[in-house]
Amino acid sequence: MTPEFNLIQQYFTRNSTQAILGVGDDAAILPVTQGMQLVTAVDTMVVNRHFLSDADAYGVGWKSLAVNLSDLAAMGATPRWALLALTLPEINDGWLRGFSEGFYACASNFGVELVGGDTTKGALTISVTVMGEIAPQQALRRDAAKIGDDIWVSGWLGEAALGLRAIQKEITLPAEALKICRAALDRPIPRVELGLRLRNLAHAAIDISDGLLADLGHILERSVVGAEILIDHVPAHPVLQHFLLGDPLGMQCLLTGGDDYELCFTALPENAGQIQMIGELLDLKLSRIGKITASGELLLLDAQNQVINFQHLGYDHFA
Ligand code: ADP
Ligand code: MG
Repeated sequence: MTPEFNLIQQYFTRNSTQAILGVGDDAAILPVTQGMQLVTAVDTMVVNRHFLSDADAYGVGWKSLAVNLSDLAAMGATPRWALLALTLPEINDGWLRGFSEGFYACASNFGVELVGGDTTKGALTISVTVMGEIAPQQALRRDAAKIGDDIWVSGWLGEAALGLRAIQKEITLPAEALKICRAALDRPIPRVELGLRLRNLAHAAIDISDGLLADLGHILERSVVGAEILIDHVPAHPVLQHFLLGDPLGMQCLLTGGDDYELCFTALPENAGQIQMIGELLDLKLSRIGKITASGELLLLDAQNQVINFQHLGYDHFA
């Protein structure tokens, strides 16, 4: 047996119930549900660019799938299958064990099956393709925001970015705060269930991977609308408020930091009650942070309704 084959056998072959043919043949065969449309996305993580070389392998495995499921969540799709293209500098069994455990933990959490992949030698790179399903016309697209919509975000923002700044020793955080930030950075939770429940309630949606302002900017651009965001309504974890709201670096993390993997979505104001109920049902904070406007601009407003110039936050690009 070649080492590569051995590795696939050992770490990436588990019984599959959602594939007609999974790992082991030249290609996988998948039973696509009749009448549904296939929704697919791919994301690549490169060592020292998307994760640190000493990052815990379990976390890297979890996150490599989670960031892809976040894309499906933002479409409102039901995740079903994944492909894993793994480039490894060497065969390190300890790392592979941790990585595959993290990957499969995320997969079973969200009902996804690993049905194939590719394994090659080179600088550590993890590329995951996910496939999900959605009924025709149900997807939450970036181009569907309407003037007058409320703008919502799930969870808390800025945690992962703050955690990275702490790891890089740009800031110091007390233990409790650091723990929250590290969890957000290493183990993001894709908002799959939220995406599914928003299908008939939200207009547009996106997952926040590059920071709230940049990703909301994509909705505005594609929908040809503007927005007003109330800075006081942007959700910062109570334990982190001092750091996120207290200084420009924290504000950067909150608004432009990225790696949040929360959903930002727009919906008619009359749907607010139902959306709040979904938040309660899922035990997930949902915050209304502003409105879609006709202006074509993204304005950030303070508590006195004054426009904040976010150039001073080190942010000058959102289009
Ligand atoms: P081929 O040379 O035909 O592409 P491979 O040796 O690359 O075959 O792969 C053999 C089987 O193992 C295929 O079913 C492939 O999908 C699967 N596979 C390879 N690498 C991985 C991986 N990292 N994770 C999951 N499945 C994998
Ligand atoms: Mg191959």
